[in-house]
Amino acid sequence: MSDAIRPQPGILDIALYQGGQAHVSGVSNVVKLSSNENPFGPSEKAREAYLRAAHQLHRYPSTDHAELRAAIAEIHGLDPERIICGVGSDEIITFLCQAYAGPGDEVLRTEHGFLMYDISARAAGATPVAVPERERTTDVDALLAACNARTRLVFIANPNNPTGTMIGAKEVARLAEGLPEQALLVLDGAYAEYVEGFDGGKALVEARDNVVMTRTFSKIYGLGGLRIGWGYGPKEIIDVLNRIRGPFNLSTTQLEVAEAAVRDQDWVAKCRGENTRMRAWLAEALAEVGVPSDTSTANFILARFADAEEAEACDAFLKSEGLIVRKTGGYGLANCLRITVGDEASCRRVAHAVTQFKGQR
Ligand code: PMP
Repeated sequence: MSDAIRPQPGILDIALYQGGQAHVSGVSNVVKLSSNENPFGPSEKAREAYLRAAHQLHRYPSTDHAELRAAIAEIHGLDPERIICGVGSDEIITFLCQAYAGPGDEVLRTEHGFLMYDISARAAGATPVAVPERERTTDVDALLAACNARTRLVFIANPNNPTGTMIGAKEVARLAEGLPEQALLVLDGAYAEYVEGFDGGKALVEARDNVVMTRTFSKIYGLGGLRIGWGYGPKEIIDVLNRIRGPFNLSTTQLEVAEAAVRDQDWVAKCRGENTRMRAWLAEALAEVGVPSDTSTANFILARFADAEEAEACDAFLKSEGLIVRKTGGYGLANCLRITVGDEASCRRVAHAVTQFKGQR
């Protein structure tokens, strides 16, 4: 390859994102608990919409997503004009970085924050900055102290991935109020639906002009395979993001299924209830055998081991038992494993396997 053909600066610094594998060779009855997917999948109504969409595949999809935005707005009590829909919330994160950060700019995220923020920041030519957390929880003081004249975006996930912790509305508001005037706060609410009564920071987005919220259909809606997310923010910012959005970024199928899914809040409540019940059960079962975790508010727990070697060994043992969980070394937490809260049978298998593992040490 000629030296003259080269990517933009920063691109080769991007570490490839490792998706969760779904198989272990030679092991049957494998359950994937590494990508925070909903073990029950999407609602029946969303599945029916998927089949209905098959009759429209020759038509181009809507370019303005008006019906999906109207449905999201109705369910969440939002202004549809301030909603943008994308290919997963990943795409909204990418749009934000493309539109608001470039060479010389800094994009802040918390120490153990989601890896996509760095990928998108670097792809836009900006510099990602990891800001220390306090006890694996977002530290507003540290974020404010890390801001400077180059800060353009500040990403926090609330609840956070992979720690499962979250901070309260007052702390989030303090962060938004304290940012330099050229910086935008992005509240990533990928796991917001797992917290009863929490709407991702909607009130703050409505009250301020420097806050955007991102949401996804990949988690509680059980639609990770279909790739749909959305963002909510000030009208001017949504207008900017729409200018860089491809007109047909979402397919007819994505739009129809997401609309049916968001209208089925009974399914969301049922999945949240099951998750809350099994999350508490799993956390307690692991703690009883000497594997603690912070109180999680999401659909996974971050199990802490004595050190990186023990976490690695437990991961290998779980794999041999057909249980795929997530190693968190890439998040700076090599002594931990992130375990998605599966259905009851999966949680029991995990607890049994970790108990066996600890018994052998
Ligand atoms: N934010 C966080 C914190 C996540 O954990 C994830 C998925 N792992 C996403 C955003 C992206 O989700 P999606 O692109 O599937 O909407």
